[in-house]
Amino acid sequence: MKKHNFSAGPSILPQSVLEKASEAVLNFNDLDLSILEISHRSKDFVEVMENARDLALKHLGLQNKGYQALFLQGGASMQFLMTAYNLLEQKAAYLNTGVWSDKAIKEAKLIGDVVEVATSKSDNFNFIPKNYAVPSDVDYFHCTSNNTIYGTQMHKFPNTDVPIVCDMSSDIFSRELDFSRFSLIYAGAQKNMGPAGTTLVVVKEDILGKVSRAIPSMLNYQVQIDKESMFNTPPVFSVYVSFLTLQWLEQEGGISSIEKVNNQKADMLYKEIDRNPLFKGYVANVEDRSKMNATFNLVNDQLKETFDSHAKAAGVSGINGHRSVGGYRASLYNALPLESVKVLVEVMQEVERGA
Ligand SMILES: *Cc1c(COP(=O)(O)O)cnc(C)c1O
Repeated sequence: MKKHNFSAGPSILPQSVLEKASEAVLNFNDLDLSILEISHRSKDFVEVMENARDLALKHLGLQNKGYQALFLQGGASMQFLMTAYNLLEQKAAYLNTGVWSDKAIKEAKLIGDVVEVATSKSDNFNFIPKNYAVPSDVDYFHCTSNNTIYGTQMHKFPNTDVPIVCDMSSDIFSRELDFSRFSLIYAGAQKNMGPAGTTLVVVKEDILGKVSRAIPSMLNYQVQIDKESMFNTPPVFSVYVSFLTLQWLEQEGGISSIEKVNNQKADMLYKEIDRNPLFKGYVANVEDRSKMNATFNLVNDQLKETFDSHAKAAGVSGINGHRSVGGYRASLYNALPLESVKVLVEVMQEVERGA
C-alpha cells in the first residue's frame, strides 16, 4: 500500500508522474532509448526543456512579460549566492524568517552590504515579522515566501519600488499571487515541483547587467538565458520529471484549482490541531501559518509513542518535525491528496479517544 507521504522534501509527487517517469527511464518517447541515455542536445530533450520553461512561466502568468525561466543546478542554496552575485552592487535588504533566509544573508554578505530589515530569530522563527520598512536605496529586497522548517508563510509582501527577490522553494505553484510583483523567484524542485537536482529560476531580464563585477559563467543568469538553460549538461531527469509535474498541474486546472484543494487540506488539519486538546500548533500567530507545512506538537510528550505507532499503522509517513523545531510537521504539497489529510486527522482523533 502506498504511504500517506507528508515528507517536507524531497517529497510526494503525483502517482501518474511517477508512472510516466518510470516509463521514460525504459523507453522515452518511443525512441527505444532511456531518457537517461540520450543527448541533452537531442530534439526530444530540447523540446522537454523548452516546454518546461514555457509551462513554468504560463502557470505563473508571466509569459510575454519580460521574464525568463531557467532550470539550473546547485539547489536553492546556490541561488543564495547567485542572486547576490548578479544583483548586489552595493547594498541589499533581507527579511530573516528562518534558517534558509539566514543562509541567504550569509552568502550575500560575501558580495556586498546587507541590511536585515527584521527577524524573528529570537523566537526560533515562529512568526513572520511585520511593520518593517524596505529602504529605498537598496539593490533589491530578499524574502522567503514559505518557511518550510517552522511552518510560517508570508501572506503579504511589502509594497516597494525596489526589485523583490523571493525564495519560493516550498510554496511555488501552490497559490495564486501577482507574480509580476517579483523580479526574481527561485525554487528548488524537490519541495513542490519535482525531484531534487534542479532549481527553477524565474527572472525579469531587465534587472540583469547592472553590477560592475565579472560574473563566472556558471553563475551568470545572462549566460544561462542565452544558452537556454543548457550552458552545460542540465540535470536531464530532474527537468523531465519537473516538466511532467507542471503538465499534471495543468491537467488539474492550474494554480487556481490546486489552491482550493490546498486550502481545504490546510483548513482540515489546522482545525483539528486547534480542536484536539492533545495537540498545539507551533506558529505563534494564526495568520502566519503555512498552508504547505503545518507544524504542531503534542501537549503531553508521553503520548509520543502512542501517536507515532498509530500514525505508522495508518500508513502516515514523514511527519517528524525538523530537528531545530522538534514535534511534528505535516507537509501538504500540491501532490498530497485530501484523503491523506483525512487519515492523519483520524489518527489524531483515535489517539484522543484512547488517551
Ligand atoms: C529546502 C529549502 C532550501 C534549500 O534547498 P536546496 O535545494 O537543498 O539548496 C532553501 N529554501 C527553502 C525555503 C527550502 O525549503
